[in-house]
Amino acid sequence: MDAPTMKACSIPSFKATELVIKRSTAPVNRHDTCAFGTVFTNHMLTIKWDACEGWLSPLIQPFHNLPLHPACSSLHYGVQLFEGLKAYRGADNRLRLFRPMLNMERMLVSARRACLPIFEASELLECIRKLVEVDQDCVPCSDTASLYIRPTLISTEPSLAVQKPGRALLFVIMSLVSSYFNAATKDISLWADPKYTRAWEGGTGDCKMGGNYGSTLCAQYEAAENGCQQVLWLYGEDHQITEVGTMNIFVHWINEDGEEELATPPLNGIILPGVTRRSILELTRQWGEFKVTERSLNMAQLQGALKQGRVKQLFGSGTACMICPVAEIFYLGEHLRIPRQEKSSQLSARIFKQLTDIQYGRTPSDWTFLV
Ligand SMILES: *Cc1c(COP(=O)(O)O)cnc(C)c1O
Repeated sequence: MDAPTMKACSIPSFKATELVIKRSTAPVNRHDTCAFGTVFTNHMLTIKWDACEGWLSPLIQPFHNLPLHPACSSLHYGVQLFEGLKAYRGADNRLRLFRPMLNMERMLVSARRACLPIFEASELLECIRKLVEVDQDCVPCSDTASLYIRPTLISTEPSLAVQKPGRALLFVIMSLVSSYFNAATKDISLWADPKYTRAWEGGTGDCKMGGNYGSTLCAQYEAAENGCQQVLWLYGEDHQITEVGTMNIFVHWINEDGEEELATPPLNGIILPGVTRRSILELTRQWGEFKVTERSLNMAQLQGALKQGRVKQLFGSGTACMICPVAEIFYLGEHLRIPRQEKSSQLSARIFKQLTDIQYGRTPSDWTFLV
């Protein structure tokens, strides 16, 4: 490819200073209870890109349906990706995002993997900050409610050829998360069937691309038919423990060497690098109270530890529920019960408190980003 011409006709990033805002005249959308991801705020952000002109000016406008060419390759070949982060309203009535630059950077990793255009992470963050500001009245004043922000990047290439897109659309929509959903922290049961694989080495399991999720519905449905809430994703002949549903997984136990340890699988390409995962690792390493390890874990090791009474807790982590303790696992006809500890000695409860204290601004932290 001819580098100088490429340079002449491509713009590296959109600029938040060029943002245009068209305000909605609809009444502010506020709901106290609603199912996750079903009620949206009044505005959305859209930014168009094409290979020749590069990024156009960002636009905040009333929430609307997208006009899409029916051949566009996001619909046919899954050339798309997304992100997920939240805004929280603190007791001081200010809205905060939690480590949003990590989401922006992860979005760029996914964009490169999907052959979609990249941009300046800080420019998108500033556009999102503006969007949250425009719709801030949609977020109730509650220490359990939050706003779920969904940045999305899709190919709008109107062609059935399997090729690198020449047109794309970045958009951001925001959904109200009721306090009910946030407060629901009931321990979950897991369905572990090695016939299903969520991600594999050399694949895209470490990127937030839609295809990774649509293809798990079948397993999720089977888990539900067997009375379980989530799938425990196993990998390889030794049934390595990788993730739970759309969450990272942590084991708090006394390890094979008799040491207290908090362990989670390493980022080896099949694990989604969660912001919550990273925050839990950083937080517990700061405590310095026990070993915190990124290591592979398999079902035989977990079964052995359960038999010997070495398992303290097992939990999933992610932006949606923050921390989700596991009560039991159904695996190859076996019913593995995870011991339930007193609430006061649960590691998950302690981490949940420290993280939510930061998110809701009760503990000052450079992990929060004021809107
Ligand atoms: C999004 C996601 C997570 C959690 O990531 P967070 O940044 O903590 O929300 C974990 N696993 C999968 C498969 C995910 O898609």
